[in-house]
This record gives sequence, C-alpha cells and structure tokens, in this order.
Amino acid sequence: MAVISRFDPWRSSMCTCPPKLTFNPYTGCDHGCVYCYASSYIPQFASCRPKKGLLQRLQREAAKLMGETVSIANSSDPYPRMEATSGLTRRCLEIFAESNCRIQIITKSDLVIRDDDVLTKVPSTVALTITTDDAEVARLLEPHAPTPNARLRAAEDLIGKGIPVSVRIDPLIPFVNDQPEKLVATLASIGVKHVTSSTYKIKPDNWRRFSAVMPAVAEKLKPLYFKQGEKIGGNTLLPRDLRFKLLKNIRDFTIVNGMQFGVCREGLPRLNTAACDGSWLLNDESR
Ligand code: SF4
Repeated sequence: MAVISRFDPWRSSMCTCPPKLTFNPYTGCDHGCVYCYASSYIPQFASCRPKKGLLQRLQREAAKLMGETVSIANSSDPYPRMEATSGLTRRCLEIFAESNCRIQIITKSDLVIRDDDVLTKVPSTVALTITTDDAEVARLLEPHAPTPNARLRAAEDLIGKGIPVSVRIDPLIPFVNDQPEKLVATLASIGVKHVTSSTYKIKPDNWRRFSAVMPAVAEKLKPLYFKQGEKIGGNTLLPRDLRFKLLKNIRDFTIVNGMQFGVCREGLPRLNTAACDGSWLLNDESR
C-alpha cells in the first residue's frame, strides 16, 4: 500500500478542499484529544507508532511527485510527543524537500518550528490547530498537546521565518469555544492570514470521551445534537442553521481582521472566502 495517497479518495460532497495528496508518518496519535474523529477508525489509536519501512517507501514514491500538494497529516498529527526524539517527520520532510512537491503541515505541536529550516527549502504552509486560547479548556480537550500559548508562539515564529500560517479553530463546540473573537484578533495581530473552522461532529467514541471530561456541557449539547441535529455519514452534527450562525460569526470576525476564512466539511461552502484548507497560501505572492 502506498504511503502517499490521494486526500479524500471517497470524494465526499462535504469536502471542498482543492485536490491534494495526504501522508501520515505515524499511525495513531498521542495528543489524546477527546473529540478526535480518527480514533473511531484506526485500531489502537492512542498507541502512536511509526509506519513500517516508511523512509524507504517514501523515497520511492516522493521521487515520482510532479508538483502536487502533500498534506501532512490528516489521520494523525505529524508531531506526536515521540517525534521529539525519533525525528521521523523531519526525515520525511527532508525527502520531500528533495522532490517536486508543495507541503501543507497540519499540527497542534510547536515542535514544527524545529523543522523550519527544511520547510523553507520547499513551498510550504503550516496549519496550526488552536481550538481555544483558554489553557484550562485546552488541557481538558487536548490533554497531551502543547498549550495554546506554545502554538501561538510557534505560529509567530514560523511567520517570522517567511512560512505562511493558517489556524484551525476546530472543532467549534457550543458553550465551550464558540466565541473566539479574542483569539481571532490575536491571530491577525501576529500575521496569520487564514482561519479554518468546523463544528464538533459526534461519533460514539468521541462523545463518550467528551461527556466524561465535560459532563455539564454534554447535557446542554444533547438536545442540540440528538433532537435537533442532523446525521451525515457516521457523524451527528448540530442543526444546519446553528452551524451556519456559529461559523458566520467567526467568518465575520476573521474578515474584519483582514484574514481569509474557510469551513471544513459543513455543507456550507458559501462561507468560504478562499480555499477552505488555507492551501491558497502556497501561491500567495505577498508573503
Ligand atoms: S491531534 Fe488530531 S489526530 Fe491527534 S488525537 Fe488530536 S484530533 Fe486526533
């Protein structure tokens, strides 16, 4: 099986990403996010492990690239805690930097700044997920991921090195992080150019974890999701009009602050002001 594959091979009608490839150095992830979607389809998800024979396979496949965008990573984080010692993602980036491609990193870790020297050798953009600027809420939702402040410092650092950054405020959860005006203003002030947002989508396993760490909020969410919400694929979503209202609120703040905006898998593409995933930054001449 190939280690570089087409992103969204099922061509979901909910996905508005431009065509791109995807690559995951690791199987599973150890950031421990309670809302994680990938944990529902990857066995032993919390025991993060490097892919077998990865570097040799990547060498072969990367040599065939012809300028495609490779998104790293979509079913795991390319900077789990073990990356600090293994350096596996760094080795992979070095291989990509020798090939004909463009790189989009998606991570919650400030460890990405360690690799800024490699990322400046190839057209790159980094999407940092900053779900909230409240450190205590982040500790509950993403117990093993770096703090929001560490991620903000990483964003600032990358921008300072000329690597364009987008931020994912994702997932957006009513009563938890649905008023991110201060965070949006902070992002604009440090030079972030794009915000992607998406509402929390319930799967049975992430709902069990979420209800355990935020039981009072879970009680308030139940009628919104399970009575008024809608089922799409294997997910339970908030009602469409509430999703629109929450996301439009962030969109308006994002635009007022001079940034572009996109939504992820909401069925609301009219809210996008640019390529939803921030990949337009790879072509941005003004950076
Ligand atoms: S960082 Fe992403 S892949 Fe890792 S646990 Fe969190 S949501 Fe899941």
